[in-house]
Amino acid sequence: MASPITQVHNPADQNHSINNYPQKSKKDATKSKRKKIFKALFCCFSEQRLVSKQELTNVPTSDSLMKPMSPNLLGKKTLVLDLDETLVHSSFKPVAKADFIVPVEIEGQLHQVYVSKRPHVDEFMQAISQKFEIVVFTASLAKYADPVLDLLDPNRFVHHRLFREACHHHKGNFVKDLSRLGRDLKTTIIIDNSPTSYLFHPENAIPIDSWFDNENDIELLDVLPLLDSLTQVDDVRTCLDENNLMESTIRIKQLESPNSTTTTSLNLFK
Ligand SMILES: [Mg+2]
Repeated sequence: MASPITQVHNPADQNHSINNYPQKSKKDATKSKRKKIFKALFCCFSEQRLVSKQELTNVPTSDSLMKPMSPNLLGKKTLVLDLDETLVHSSFKPVAKADFIVPVEIEGQLHQVYVSKRPHVDEFMQAISQKFEIVVFTASLAKYADPVLDLLDPNRFVHHRLFREACHHHKGNFVKDLSRLGRDLKTTIIIDNSPTSYLFHPENAIPIDSWFDNENDIELLDVLPLLDSLTQVDDVRTCLDENNLMESTIRIKQLESPNSTTTTSLNLFK
């Protein structure tokens, strides 16, 4: 059924398939994109020098979504992580192997949400914990996502949590406007399964396939070498933009078309 708490539905559920891309071609595109990113990254290295702490800027403004970076994190880049279908998958339907069951009250009624962790998410969080300022930015509701993060992140690796109200509502979609984080876009990276989320900043994005229940998924491990490499470049956008801009341009056109299917794609529980 359609979820009143998250913004992406399982395309396997044919009654609520909102995925805007055919799964096969999207997966292929993502793989191809990842290869291109690695290629771009090696190009970056040939021209970039290592960045010093002093060169990284921290630019919070009065309407920033986050407080200034903690002094102990200065010099680190900011890694923005999506939650649903990137780190976990949640469902109202009972799941035998759910990692957590989170009670959520919706319209006065208590519902059990069954949350499954993406394979290797613990390893992933541990690996990035010392290297980045970590933000989880989700278009889901705080009353669901906050308790999920309490369980998902017992070591408190995540420095900031941003929920639906922090998203920019754009043509019926929740877009994560990275320019409002109060961080330098040169040093900000987003990993999100939904290209719509980083519509405004495709040059900062590392795409990742949506995860629902594949126990053999290794996407989170696959992305670690790229993240390691990005810690060493001056401007992450010089490495990431080439591959995402074209897809974003197509997507903006789709959103602006009155007959576009994407305008009805995220009709979740608003
Ligand atoms: Mg997502």
